[in-house]
This record gives sequence, C-alpha cells and structure tokens, in this order.
Amino acid sequence: MRPSILVSNDDGIHSTGLHALADALREVGDVTVVAPDREKSASAHSLTLHRPVAVRQISDAVYTVDGTPADCVYLGALSILDSKPDLLVSGINRGGNIGDDVTYSGTVAAALEGTILGVPSFAVSQLRPFGVQRGAHAGSPEFVWDNAARVSALVARRILADPLPEDVLLNVNVPAGDPEGLRITRQGKHLYDQVVHEALDPRGKVYYWVGSGAPTRLEQTDDTDYTTVRQGFVSITPLHLDLTHRETLQRLKSDWEAPLAAEFIED
Ligand code: MN
Repeated sequence: MRPSILVSNDDGIHSTGLHALADALREVGDVTVVAPDREKSASAHSLTLHRPVAVRQISDAVYTVDGTPADCVYLGALSILDSKPDLLVSGINRGGNIGDDVTYSGTVAAALEGTILGVPSFAVSQLRPFGVQRGAHAGSPEFVWDNAARVSALVARRILADPLPEDVLLNVNVPAGDPEGLRITRQGKHLYDQVVHEALDPRGKVYYWVGSGAPTRLEQTDDTDYTTVRQGFVSITPLHLDLTHRETLQRLKSDWEAPLAAEFIED
C-alpha cells in the first residue's frame, strides 16, 4: 500500500517550495497538502484557540487553512485525512532554519506538531540563494527547489523504511548552490544582531520592527547545522521534543533541590 503523506509549510499555499515538495513526495506516496492560506513564517508552534478556523479545499487533496502551520497539521492529521498519515513533511521553507531559528520557525513547528500527534515528521528548508535578502516575497524566483525536493524524497523513503524513535523529528537544511554532500549534524547557534528598528509613521507615531537584525557570523565546530550548510553540505539534525537538559537536571537535583525546598517551606 502506498504511504499517506501530509505536506504543510509556513510560507503559505502560494509558496513554490510547498508545491515542489508535494511533487517530489508524490513519487513516494499519496500526498495531501494542508497549508496556511497566507504566509505564517516565524509563527512557531502557535495554535489558533480564540476563534474558529476555516478549511477550504482548493483542488484534489489540496486544502488551505486560515490558521497557523500547527493548525494545518492538527486538522490535516485528525480531520481532513480519514486516518493519521504515515509521514508529515513541512517545507520547503524559503530560507534556512538552523540553530536558534528552530524555536521561531513555523516550518519546524509543523513537524513538532506531527511528532506530538505520533506521526513521523521532518522539516526541510532551503537556504537563501546568495544575494537574496530575508523577507523577499513568497514567489521569489531566485529560489531553486530541486536539491531540497530530491533530498526530501530520499529522507521520506528512509524514515518510512527505518523509523525514528518516538518524540524525535528531523530538521533538514539544504545549502544554496550545488550541495557538496550530506551530513548528520547537531543543532548549532544562529544569532542575529540584537537591534530594534524604531521610526515614525506618517502620523508621527513611533513604530518598531523586531527581528530585523543581520545574522551574526559565529565560529562553530564542524558538527553543527550552521557550519555544515556554510560548508555547502545538506544538514540533517535529529531534534527531540523533550527539551530537558540532563546534566543541569542532575546538578540542580543535588545542589538546589533540598535547600530551595527548605527555603520555600520556611517562608
Ligand atoms: Mn517560512
């Protein structure tokens, strides 16, 4: 039986990366696309809880949701499809999701949501071609999706044949240009200049832009996602839903727990 594959993203239904991904995965299984009806980048793992959400079918097995990437996966897996899919793939994002980006990323959050629902999941992102600015519009023609689409089909086949452990998802990043190869990596750091852009609107009122800083160049070991894509390799990072830091847990348990509990009770 052909596997059932749910495809979503955070760039919205009009992103050419979404359709390149869906096309590549149709070689692997039966694809259903459930994507936001507009750009929802950097929406992280938010769910729409305070208003109803509309689903619209726009063609055979293609749906839009007026909500977030996590809404799309939730509705796709639990309502639109007759049963949970065998695989969830989110992307192809317009721009990388490396290091600290994963905590803001709607693309990665869609894969987190799939993982929470017990569906094997991965996110795939295409790094910006050289010279293309952050915030370039969704149909940006400079993006070439072929390499990311091809890697996605290969990773999809792998996961279906050799399942990931429970609560683990993959974060795939494809470098600009022709990749040199592929490496399994760990999450590195990706920081931006910590600036707030402040200016006056036409009515003389102050407005702000957040998150508009340029990326900071950081020295990192070769095993990180950051260094790997900068060296021109495809990066595949296994991520874990459990964010607990084990070493600190042990230290706080032995050094903090008893005195803190005693202070708390004395108060
Ligand atoms: Mn995006």
